[in-house]
Amino acid sequence: QELIEEDETPVRWFRVNTILSNVEEVLKSLSTLEKVDTIEEIKPGKLYHDIHVPFLFGIHPSERITSSFIYKTGKIIIQDRASCFPATILCPKPGDKVIDTCSAPGNKTTHAASFLKNMPNSIYAFERDPERAKILEKMVKKAGADRSIMINTRDFLATDPLDKKYEKITGFIVDPSCSGSGIFGRAHEDDHNENDNENEHENEKETDQKDIYRLHKLSEFQYKIVKHALSYPAARKLVYSTCSIHAIENEKVVIKLLQDPEVQKQGWSVAPKDTVLPKWERRGWPEVFQEAGYDEVMAKKLADGCVRTLPKIDGGIGFFAVCFERTLNGSKFED
Ligand code: SAM
Repeated sequence: QELIEEDETPVRWFRVNTILSNVEEVLKSLSTLEKVDTIEEIKPGKLYHDIHVPFLFGIHPSERITSSFIYKTGKIIIQDRASCFPATILCPKPGDKVIDTCSAPGNKTTHAASFLKNMPNSIYAFERDPERAKILEKMVKKAGADRSIMINTRDFLATDPLDKKYEKITGFIVDPSCSGSGIFGRAHEDDHNENDNENEHENEKETDQKDIYRLHKLSEFQYKIVKHALSYPAARKLVYSTCSIHAIENEKVVIKLLQDPEVQKQGWSVAPKDTVLPKWERRGWPEVFQEAGYDEVMAKKLADGCVRTLPKIDGGIGFFAVCFERTLNGSKFED
């Protein structure tokens, strides 16, 4: 595992929480900052408006945004740009019903709630860890999303997809525990929920073997939880994401799902590039799909359906996202 060591976040990203505020109000309170057009120009005193995620802005990490009124009142939410990809890709509309399978601390859940315009009871947010569920509850309250998000402190894998209360669930965010290998510094500690303590006295070889074993276990779990979500009868669109840079937690999970006979029977496929952050250039790794037996054209198509970010180089954490979609009775999620 190549965990990138402590370093400063190159950009501090925050999104306007459209449940409690709007761009106009936020820009007014940041009127001393000068707008710039590229990430490279972000310096103290500058403000960048992102082109990939709506309502997302970047500032220099030295800005004291956490002591501002707009931050303290939940009008803006500090969230890494890549972490905003899943809700942006899912893009649920008011009236849709969504499940977030792995919710705490609640960045992606509250982001999804803003797309749903905070419609009552529109998101089931699962979190199996009671302590983390408390953090989720706090975040949901602060974001003003408590009427739309229903917190379920339980294991998503123990849910019954045929339960009547889930019969209208069309969209999923699946952001399970991962190795966190795309994360650097301490700022994002909460985002991946892997707290393995390395034993300093182990020799390197043992640590390597332990890491490989751990990655395999994580990959198994990630496949299992996405597969469970895909089995919900009304599901039409699902975004799977990790803050890992390893293919085994990313493209290889996608391949295993695509090659699963049950998933195939359900009619799932990887959504094409033009519907998944089309302007974002860094995509999945085609060679991993080719190694799994896909021809060059198909491997490129599938890899293009995936989005990757590199830690620091892309202005934040290393991340992976892919969107699965299926047509039910001729209608897609967006219809
Ligand atoms: N999506 C969150 C966000 O953006 O703030 C981060 C989620 S973190 C990567 C994964 C979370 O999933 C952890 O809080 C973990 O406790 C929870 N989790 C893991 N397995 C789960 C399961 N089977 N059911 C529900 N929650 C689970």
